[in-house]
Amino acid sequence: MTVTGKTPAAGASAPELQGIGVCPGRAAGPVALMGPRPRLPAQRPEVTDPDAEAEAALAALSVTADDLERRAAATTIPGAAEVLDATAMIARDPSLEESIRSAIGKGEPAAWAVDVAFDGFRALLLDLGGYMAERVGDLDDVRDRTVARLLGLPLPGVPERDVPFILVADDLAPADTVTLTPERVLALVTVRGGPTSHTAILARSLGIPAVVACPDAASLGEGDLIEVDGTTGRVRAGIGAHEAAATNRDERARRAARAASRGPGQTADGHPVALLLNIGDASGAAAVTKVDAEGVGLFRTEFLYLDRADAPSIGEQVALYTGVLGAMAGRKIVVRTLDAGADKPLPFLEQDEEENPALGVRGLRTARRSPDVLTDQLEALALAQQATGAVVWVMAPMVATAGEAKWFTDLAHEHGLPVAGVMVEIPAAALRARDILEHADFLSIGTNDLAQYTLAADRMAGALADLLDPWQPALLDLIRMTAEAGLAAGKSVGVCGEAAASPSLAPVLVGLGVTSLSMSASAIADVRDALAAVTLAECRALATEALAGRRPA
Ligand code: PEP
Ligand code: MG
Repeated sequence: MTVTGKTPAAGASAPELQGIGVCPGRAAGPVALMGPRPRLPAQRPEVTDPDAEAEAALAALSVTADDLERRAAATTIPGAAEVLDATAMIARDPSLEESIRSAIGKGEPAAWAVDVAFDGFRALLLDLGGYMAERVGDLDDVRDRTVARLLGLPLPGVPERDVPFILVADDLAPADTVTLTPERVLALVTVRGGPTSHTAILARSLGIPAVVACPDAASLGEGDLIEVDGTTGRVRAGIGAHEAAATNRDERARRAARAASRGPGQTADGHPVALLLNIGDASGAAAVTKVDAEGVGLFRTEFLYLDRADAPSIGEQVALYTGVLGAMAGRKIVVRTLDAGADKPLPFLEQDEEENPALGVRGLRTARRSPDVLTDQLEALALAQQATGAVVWVMAPMVATAGEAKWFTDLAHEHGLPVAGVMVEIPAAALRARDILEHADFLSIGTNDLAQYTLAADRMAGALADLLDPWQPALLDLIRMTAEAGLAAGKSVGVCGEAAASPSLAPVLVGLGVTSLSMSASAIADVRDALAAVTLAECRALATEALAGRRPA
């Protein structure tokens, strides 16, 4: 093991690495390093039998596709099969075969021909931009797996091991994240990534203890025994087997206690705070009863469509939403209309190339160009609501002005959706929450984006994590203003960004006047306990402290 920049842990000899904890829980086990990209050897062999080279290249490509399809058929992770099948389709593209044959015809050996053929495709996708350019990562994955097979090297990506392991990676590609399961992967540590990156959101939805933005993790070695604390962000290297076993035993006991946690969210003196779930599909909705959440506070509908080339029909959407709403067992669900565009492009949204996608046509703004996509979605939601009798609240992402809020909420009401609100993710919306609440039935604060826009710090940038910290007083000020506007209007104001999942911040948010907290299923029990331990007056005192820039050590 080689660990740089390490600090000795208090009272222990094991070196400590610091990152950002993004999914609570502790785990200890051996490190499995993410397979590296295969490199083509400097020495290019002479091609003596082009037919044999072509046969080898195409066979390797076909095994890669078979493997992806096998994993798609075997996975139980929501959304994983679609991503893996879409990646397998890339490997089976006939024009790829043509390009490989053509490269071999020009004297390239099998592995080199695969590399050249994929290079051509890569350039094509990058030129197309937007959603197609985003698929470059999947293309690279197919290339690397095929090249590794041809060179007889270990396959890149999430490793296969006989025993559960702690995955250590630079960062994860979407195709990697969908193959993770808590049974195989005890914990996750990445060198890069930020607290609100999609790697972090996925780890939380799977309940895998995770630490991101941990630069020193790059020096961990294969098989090192380490302990990961997804709450504090600490990683301890060089621990002993007894210590590892004790950590995992404690964690199992903690999880068993968490699983038994039930009941509505409330402070010690009975002030109610609805605890809700963030979900992306029907299996997420099923967790509502499992963790005894009071409903869903954020259904991210765009997750259902990220791999779609065409706009889904109203009928298809009704079927999807009916599945999700049907799992709610009478509990409320807040459905967010498509938060696509810019960094989450959907091919059917006709996006232009943008210099600053985070400041571009995203969220509700995509309806300026493609209003039918929004009206179809509202119609489908209303039909699914009728079919299931579910309590549906609908809200729009990325609303900046009271005018936009009026436009959206009128439209939703006209479509037969009686409760329509908006997200507060842009400082302008927080500053003008009072005006917005003249139209919106409720507000939901998206602290991930609100932090990004308030502190002018890209939410994906691990290096700016201190600015994106939800304890930043400027962010708390905007939350306070929004919550006060809600109290004045007698309307609910929730938080559905990752800040809501923090047990130490939850009482502060309640003290600021927030009425509900929405988070991943794995966070519910800890937040429920944290609220039960304080009175409303204590929450208010903690909020005053936090606004003054003071936070728990
Ligand atoms: C947010 O911005 O806080 C939010 C909940 O939306 P998303 O993370 O999907 O952008
Ligand atoms: Mg957002």
